[in-house]
Amino acid sequence: MTNSRRRMPVRCGRASAEWLAFALAGAASLAASLLFFRQDRLLVRPDELGPWTRLAVMFLSAWVLLFVLGGWTLADLQRRRRARAAAARRRDAAQREQAERIELALAGADLGLWDWNLASGRREVNGRGASMLGYAPDEIDTVDAFYRDVHPEDVAPVRAALERHLRGEARRYEAEFRLRHRTRGWVWVHCRGKVIERDAAGRPLRLLGTRMDISARKQAEREIHHLACYDPLSTLPNRRLLLERLDAAAARAAREHRHGAVLLVDLDHFKAINDGLGHDAGDRVIRAVAARLRAAVRDGGSVARLGGDEFAVLLDALDADPAAALAQAAATGEELLRKLGRPHRVGKREVYATPSIGAALFGAGGGRAGDLLKQADLAMCAAKAAGRHALRFFDPAMQQRVAESALLEADLRAALGTGQFLLHYQPIVDAGLRILGAEALVRWQHPRRGMVRPDAFIALAERTGLIVPLGQHVMEQACAQLARWARQARTAAWTLSVNVSARQFRQPGFVERTLQTLARSGADPALLKLELTESALLEDIDDVAAKMQSLRAHGIRFSLDDFGTGYSSLSYLKRLPLCQLKIDRTFVQDAWCNASDAAIARAIIALAGSLGLEVVAEGVETAAQRDFLVASGCTVFQGYLFGRPVPALGDAALAA
Ligand code: C2E
Ligand code: MG
Ligand code: MG
Repeated sequence: MTNSRRRMPVRCGRASAEWLAFALAGAASLAASLLFFRQDRLLVRPDELGPWTRLAVMFLSAWVLLFVLGGWTLADLQRRRRARAAAARRRDAAQREQAERIELALAGADLGLWDWNLASGRREVNGRGASMLGYAPDEIDTVDAFYRDVHPEDVAPVRAALERHLRGEARRYEAEFRLRHRTRGWVWVHCRGKVIERDAAGRPLRLLGTRMDISARKQAEREIHHLACYDPLSTLPNRRLLLERLDAAAARAAREHRHGAVLLVDLDHFKAINDGLGHDAGDRVIRAVAARLRAAVRDGGSVARLGGDEFAVLLDALDADPAAALAQAAATGEELLRKLGRPHRVGKREVYATPSIGAALFGAGGGRAGDLLKQADLAMCAAKAAGRHALRFFDPAMQQRVAESALLEADLRAALGTGQFLLHYQPIVDAGLRILGAEALVRWQHPRRGMVRPDAFIALAERTGLIVPLGQHVMEQACAQLARWARQARTAAWTLSVNVSARQFRQPGFVERTLQTLARSGADPALLKLELTESALLEDIDDVAAKMQSLRAHGIRFSLDDFGTGYSSLSYLKRLPLCQLKIDRTFVQDAWCNASDAAIARAIIALAGSLGLEVVAEGVETAAQRDFLVASGCTVFQGYLFGRPVPALGDAALAA
């Protein structure tokens, strides 16, 4: 705007000068003509005036015409010139506006601008672009300096992105990389650019582009990644990051013909620390375990927390020889058992969080991280089953067992409601061989496997929750049997003992369902005995006692099964409305010849007597066992000596 104002008077002056020159030229030529006319009148005699006057008139007319045409041409010339000047002014204004807009947009987006002359190698950066790196614009100029300031890890990808664009393979050049700041380390930038000039042969001459400081975004990304991939309590990598690393390690092991191993570490009885000492104590133990793991696996491995009390150790540089790799992994596993086996100090207490470790080896065959972790998990379960605080390696037989169990589970699901589950009855007798009742024992009449004993499927049914519908089915059949016995004088007083698993008993609505089943069958509740194992009593003793009380109020009685194999505390026993203890078969079998089993059996009989409970000896197979039990004060028996479990109980069922 200021420029055009300055140029206006100049242009006006020029036009006036042109008009002045034109007018002067006109006036001069008019004067010359008049002079000539006068001259003509002076020199020529009056009688000769005619033709000269005509000539003068013609001359004057031509002059007037020329003068008018000249004036018109000059006016047109000036008008065109003015129009051209106005168009140029508009163009200038539009360009300036455009430039202002671009500058505004660049400033708004915080973009620096760079202009790179590829022929000379000269690079110009505007103020914002330069200040991003702590420089003035004229301080950054040559290409070499640019590459010198790119982070060494980023030089190759930046060059590659640029060359792809210069070769015409990418529509524009775009890269995110780190540039050295004058004073404060590295700055992450996002660069975009495009060739804006090429020579006749199509070779790029000039590149123009922008640069944006993305350090804040990169920092946020790092924080998000940290949150997504690290466990905040232990600061160890989490399951997600471990899976990524495990996948990479397995692929590397396959490529390089080496071995690696993943060790799954689960703390034994950690729940007891959390429940007993509080979550703060639990957190301290987790942190302490993380620190010990980190210290133990300093080189050649990484540690992760998978959640809860579960950790994983990845060893990714084991020997190429499988036996040597196994030995290396075993050595690390043993070291972890030792180091984590030591107590942790929590306040004034010493607490133990011993580990059970499952390990899976990987090598030439690679393997997917999820599968390897599953294998380590199976091995860890084997370590737990072996008594905890142990190390076990995965072997394919474990997988075979899991596959079989999965098949069995599918069969079990399908079998429910198809009438494949039957009850067998084993007599319970007194010393005079009089049948007092029986225990109902479930059998699975499998279409392919034949008769399946409960040991093969009860634990699975408990794990999967299928025990709930199965237990209900058993209860219905047992109550129906009791009602049938009630119709015959000889069997009317027999009791029937039904096994109830812990999960089934804890199920909400168990009390109501059992009472409804009994009521529907018409059986006498006083003849129904529910056999609970000690595991059913372990959790929430108040709830267990309340449930037992409400069933007891309807006449149903309770027996404690497999007594001596669990962890019942005697104070619990006093709080529960029990009427019977069953001495487990393991104590009965050798009691007649083994002093410690004999002592346990006698102690259980004495304990039952002092608590006012009836005692039943299970698994009595020989007369010697029976004689010992009778001599110890036991009056009720169950075992092959008196009768095996059979589909229908009659006189013939009594073997002795
Ligand atoms: P349990 O309740 O302790 O049942 C006694 C087990 O000992 C039965 O095994 C029985 O056949 C076996 N037995 C009895 N006398 C002798 C003997 O003289 N010698 C030997 N070696 N064994 C004897 P079974 O029928 O295989 O049942 C095993 C376990 O399965 C039962 O142990 C019980 O815990 C569970 N079970 C059976 N039926 C059911 C059921 O309907 N529901 C639930 N939840 N569990 C059941
Ligand atoms: Mg039983
Ligand atoms: Mg038993």
